Amino acid sequence: MPKLSIRDLDVHGQRVLVRVDFNVPLGAEGQIADDLRIRAALPTLDYLLEHGARVILCSHLGRPKGKRDTSLSLRPVVQRLSNLLLRPVAFVDDCVGEKVEKTVAILQNGDCLLLENLRFYPQEEANDPEFAKKLASYADLYVNDAFGSAHRAHASTEGVTHHVPQSAVGFLMQKELKYLGDELANPQRPFAAIVGGAKASDKIGAIESLLEKSDSLLIGGAMAYTFLKSQGIGIGASLVEDDQLEVSRRILDLTAQKGKRLLLPVDHVVARRVETEQLDKKRRKIVEFRDMKNTKGAAIEDGWCGVDIGPKTVELYQQTLLGSKTVFWNGPMGIFENKNFAKGTYEIARAVAESGARSIVGGGDSVSAIHASGLTDKITFLSTGGGASLEFLEGKTLPGVAALTDR
Ligand code: ADP
Ligand code: MG
Repeated sequence: MPKLSIRDLDVHGQRVLVRVDFNVPLGAEGQIADDLRIRAALPTLDYLLEHGARVILCSHLGRPKGKRDTSLSLRPVVQRLSNLLLRPVAFVDDCVGEKVEKTVAILQNGDCLLLENLRFYPQEEANDPEFAKKLASYADLYVNDAFGSAHRAHASTEGVTHHVPQSAVGFLMQKELKYLGDELANPQRPFAAIVGGAKASDKIGAIESLLEKSDSLLIGGAMAYTFLKSQGIGIGASLVEDDQLEVSRRILDLTAQKGKRLLLPVDHVVARRVETEQLDKKRRKIVEFRDMKNTKGAAIEDGWCGVDIGPKTVELYQQTLLGSKTVFWNGPMGIFENKNFAKGTYEIARAVAESGARSIVGGGDSVSAIHASGLTDKITFLSTGGGASLEFLEGKTLPGVAALTDR
């Protein structure tokens, strides 16, 4: 690691500002629906507190658009964090200003303070230098453990580093960089990558990079329809991005030229409408399969949408996965939020878990599919970063990492 790690810092008695990613999903009553992101920060926080640091935590939560929004307060995190750390956690309902200053001044070694949502201030996302300077003024040292926000140069991820003598990589961040970086750059082979989800445009860069690194690339989800359409295959009313057809075609050509293996679905679950959240019995009947291989011309007819990969595709992808030593997965295979269209995603999740390969899963929806199928313990690494993982995979520099102190 070319950057300072927490272990390189002398944290005893020091005020350490830690940027964490406590952007947790909230339930209908504002309760924490899933505390994975809080748990993921524990190794860093335990280390700092046990080494006598005075820890000041900052994070964003949701998109308050630069305004105070009590429904997006970080206050609900306090109790959960305190239970997990087995020590009290203080809270200030602001992230800069006099209240923060006064509370920080009375912190003792081993104390932990959580600040209010950074994005209540527009200066956070604007990377405003004054705001960054204010945040930094409460600390002697800075640690970035918010991998999910590292692809953005915000005041708390980039700006702040210019105003502290030393900034270091947190343990979670380090782990993310190791798995998504080194492991995928030097994978045990064969290495299969599965990419799905809603939009091809979000993931084209990552697909190109995975095509270089992997031995097989399996495509599913809505983005498969953009690839299929680019080959002149009828996709009916499936979700498609027409502005990505050319780049999809280019990727398929490149695949052929390089002798790489890119697989597209060979059959589909199709439905009349995409917004089928409350499918009644009648509508459920119209879920059918379409076999692409045996169809000339239009494979999915007008008015029908591909909503999940079909059983033949599942089998085909499973074969590849079961023979792999490394698997990376990002993006569900269908509209898995609807249980009628979830089978492909869950079968693939099971194949990833059962492959015995080193498995790395990234993306909010893919990770929740793993949790929902009870396979969490069978996956080598679940990435907490969505956009950040993809940008890092593409080989882009993450500003939140680049800004940290070099070793
Ligand atoms: P991740 O969060 O794992 O990166 P994405 O956010 O890219 O995944 O994609 C997840 C979304 O893709 C889900 O909401 C899912 O409903 C949608 N999706 C997957 N397949 C289809 C499809 N065939 N048609 C429409 N939406 C789809
Ligand atoms: Mg998502």
